[in-house]
Amino acid sequence: MQLSDRDLSQLDVEELLNLSEKDLRHLSIKLLTDLKEARERLNQNSRNSSRPPSSEAPWEKGIRQDDSTHESEEVQDAENSDTKESEPLEEPDHTDQNETDEARKPGKQPGAKGFGRQQVLALTDYKDHFPEDCVSCHQPLKGCPQKAYTAFETIDLEWADKAHPGLRLTNTKHTYYKVTCACGQVTRKEPYRSNSHDALPDITCSQWRLVGPGLASLIICLAYRMRLSRERIEEFLQDWLGLQLSIGTINNTLHACLRAPHRQESGAATQPIEDELVKEVVESQLLHVDETSWMELSTFLWLWVFSTDTVTAYWIASRSSELIENILGRAYYGWLMSDGYQVYRKYRNRIRCWAHLLRKAQGLEESLNKEAQLFGKQTLEFMGILMTAIREAREHPPDVPLTETYQAQLIAYRQRCEQMKMASHKKTYALATEMLNDWDAIFRVLEFPHLPLTNKEAERALRHWVILRRISYGTRTEAVSCVFAILISVIETCRKRQQSPWLYLATVIHNQRSGLAVPKLPIAKGSE
Ligand SMILES: [Zn+2]
Repeated sequence: MQLSDRDLSQLDVEELLNLSEKDLRHLSIKLLTDLKEARERLNQNSRNSSRPPSSEAPWEKGIRQDDSTHESEEVQDAENSDTKESEPLEEPDHTDQNETDEARKPGKQPGAKGFGRQQVLALTDYKDHFPEDCVSCHQPLKGCPQKAYTAFETIDLEWADKAHPGLRLTNTKHTYYKVTCACGQVTRKEPYRSNSHDALPDITCSQWRLVGPGLASLIICLAYRMRLSRERIEEFLQDWLGLQLSIGTINNTLHACLRAPHRQESGAATQPIEDELVKEVVESQLLHVDETSWMELSTFLWLWVFSTDTVTAYWIASRSSELIENILGRAYYGWLMSDGYQVYRKYRNRIRCWAHLLRKAQGLEESLNKEAQLFGKQTLEFMGILMTAIREAREHPPDVPLTETYQAQLIAYRQRCEQMKMASHKKTYALATEMLNDWDAIFRVLEFPHLPLTNKEAERALRHWVILRRISYGTRTEAVSCVFAILISVIETCRKRQQSPWLYLATVIHNQRSGLAVPKLPIAKGSE
């Protein structure tokens, strides 16, 4: 804008009438430029600019129902979801923080209502756990006097399969015994206790074990795949399984079901899963990367997605180059599909999503500046011709590379971009500069027409979680962010491989609770 609010406030009719013709002409030019820029801003939407669809009013969204871009589906989805009953992934903080300078720790507060079950369930199964050998003389303890010293109940689900459809809830009483050896030594069978319990100091062992792996898997599914709020999950379990679980237990199940690797930390039980995801990403031939904003309490972070034909992996981190370097290292040898964000630029075999560029060109064509209109139109036409040629080349590979066939047009268009770099119209300048800066990445697809033209793959992989973010307002602690990222990576990777994420997660949770190794991610259906 050429005139500031202050300038405008000083202009009135009287002043205009007193201006000389020359001054009036000068002012008119400024006013016209500003008016056009203001109108263009007014007409901007997600179809012709990088404005996110979420910034649009509901009536604006309704107008373009024929729009097939990913955002419009996202908007539809978001509208269908019941955002009124939204809540954070963790319980909101209701304590008055003004009263104390000390920050409230996440998790159960002293004096808060306890976890656990409010209901007495009939037992369906019993499991006794005995020590095998004496800790002192190492003799087998069979036949020695025994006494139960602790017990806990675990509610779980018996899995539905083709032969046994439906769900059956089980309530197993696990009893642990101590045995007195002939040598006098008393040996106890101890329930396995992993390090992840240390992160949950307020939760007793029996509370931790209340929700079995299958039930935990169902709760994860309801929260993340079905995007239900904690209240809705509580309602579902009550209405369909006759099970009363407190919100606290549901929350605890979601946050503590796995011990995920923290940023910069290794050795967690799910480290093998993360290692496998990273390995697949690094070794991929084609990688789609994208990122979307994410809130971790009051920290502004990004949810990153790395999508290959075998895995969809997520990380929550800052938007610096650090994460991408941690994952990919300095060199990545496959094709990297991304938007124009700088951190990707150092990777050699980079390709650019055309959808963003086409939207920007569309915006120029619809602008009020003649030069911009023309450049927008030329860009759309040129890219349109190239897209047709690329699609044809995929069907019938040409003898001559497309870069040669279209060499003259490429040179001409590049010259247009050079000219438009001098344009006074900001968005025209911006698109021309972007084209020139990223020229190789944008037009590399001409040499390799089998490569994709858009980053839809990655955008699609983020869409579901963007809607969840709107319902849940992100995560609250780093630990929860890490568990969340690994859970959604597992869910999407299993789905990509046409395997049940829920069976796999139940096995992971079971193994982790028993001190067993975490199984590898299931391999794609058909390649077993
Ligand atoms: Zn003994």
